[in-house]
Amino acid sequence: MTQRLTSKQRYDAVIVGGRCAGAATAAALAERGASVLVLERSRYGADTVSTHALMRGGVLSLHRLGALERIVAAGTPAVRSATFLYPSGGVTVPIRSVPGSDALYAPRRTLLDRVVVDVAREAGAEVRHGMLVQGLVRDSDGRVSGVVVHDRQGRTQAVVADVVIGADGRSSRVADWVRAPTLLEGEHHGAVIFGYWSGLEVDGYLWGYAPGVGVGAIPTNDGLTCVFVSGPPEVVMSGASVETSYVELLRSAAPELAARLVDARPSGKLLRFSGARGHIRAPYGPGWALVGDAGVFRDPITAHGITDALRDAELLAEAIARGDLEGYARLRAEFTTEVFHISDEIASFAWTLERVQQLHKNFSQAMTPEVRWLSAARPLTRMRPRPPGPRPPHHRRVAQAAAVEPAPKAL
Ligand SMILES: Cc1cc2nc3c(=O)[nH]c(=O)nc-3n(C[C@H](O)[C@H](O)[C@H](O)COP(=O)(O)OP(=O)(O)OC[C@H]3O[C@@H](n4cnc5c(N)ncnc54)[C@H](O)[C@@H]3O)c2cc1C
Repeated sequence: MTQRLTSKQRYDAVIVGGRCAGAATAAALAERGASVLVLERSRYGADTVSTHALMRGGVLSLHRLGALERIVAAGTPAVRSATFLYPSGGVTVPIRSVPGSDALYAPRRTLLDRVVVDVAREAGAEVRHGMLVQGLVRDSDGRVSGVVVHDRQGRTQAVVADVVIGADGRSSRVADWVRAPTLLEGEHHGAVIFGYWSGLEVDGYLWGYAPGVGVGAIPTNDGLTCVFVSGPPEVVMSGASVETSYVELLRSAAPELAARLVDARPSGKLLRFSGARGHIRAPYGPGWALVGDAGVFRDPITAHGITDALRDAELLAEAIARGDLEGYARLRAEFTTEVFHISDEIASFAWTLERVQQLHKNFSQAMTPEVRWLSAARPLTRMRPRPPGPRPPHHRRVAQAAAVEPAPKAL
């Protein structure tokens, strides 16, 4: 039975997934005058399996959204240097202060995603948690024109929108339902184990490399440091226990850091990600668009997924307001393609130490265009008001609806 789970039945945009990509897109669209609904199946403020080091572009995006000040006020430590440890020695790169980003930050996802949702709500977006989107609605031409959502009580509603945005992560159902073509696929992927420690202060980001291993330490909220190890899945996933693999890999690439864990206290359990190949999917089609990991996913070894998601949220919102989704496709390709290839090569873990150092330099260079774009002031395009009168034909047809795809999955 169809019931009312949202405040309206039609919106300019419905966004599936309400974390960094979905909530940031909602905030940027609402700021431009769009009516926006975000449907997220998890709880407000829930954690997710991800470390959270932001690069310069991510910090600039948070500043542009008006979210950075809240992240800083919540006690997120400023990161003012990045140290790269190689067996041949270490290199420390200072992080300059630039307008809009005095330092880098690595907010826990329990904070970051919550703050971005708050900003979206304050901009006028409706954000609903505990809502599972179980299929799309299409008009008789096949154009996507809405979603079918159900809540924890099993109530179901169809919602109509000019555009349905898949911000539903790496294994995006929206991308499956619209059969979004894959434009580029990664060849490699690593696996990751990470955990949080108190009593382990680190000075800035620390990235350590040894043949076939990458490790890192990321200072974050509540006096904790996130320490991760990564490597080929057959190595990371094959130890006698998660703890053994973690300590052994950490010792091989950052022995001093590993030794310091003896006096530090773990906060929670170690978490493991078995890895997945990267993809770049087509960014839009008739009545739909993808943002965040749904559209572009790269191995986490280069810690750039949240930065991509926040940046593309603004690109997509601006493109929708202008009615120029090809502009979104063009800029997204410009900012992601090289970063994608570099991440894929690092994720092979088949490099020499000379090669991985070169790849780090290339990576830093490859981020320059997005930083330049995000540093420039530009006016927001306001959404054109909808003309009065009856809805365009495809919206009328939805009421008689049309194809609803796959069966419900449990929340
Ligand atoms: C181990 C690991 C470490 C990482 N470390 C870093 C790092 O240090 N720095 C960095 O920048 N990036 C990192 N990343 C990448 C980063 O996690 C992602 O790029 C980022 O989470 C993408 O955000 P998103 O909003 O696109 O997707 P997600 O964070 O995956 O959010 C998608 C949301 O969609 C919701 N959803 C899915 N389907 C539905 C549905 N049908 N109905 C309603 N809701 C739905 C889900 O509940 C989820 O909350 C890491 C990733 C991993 C796996």
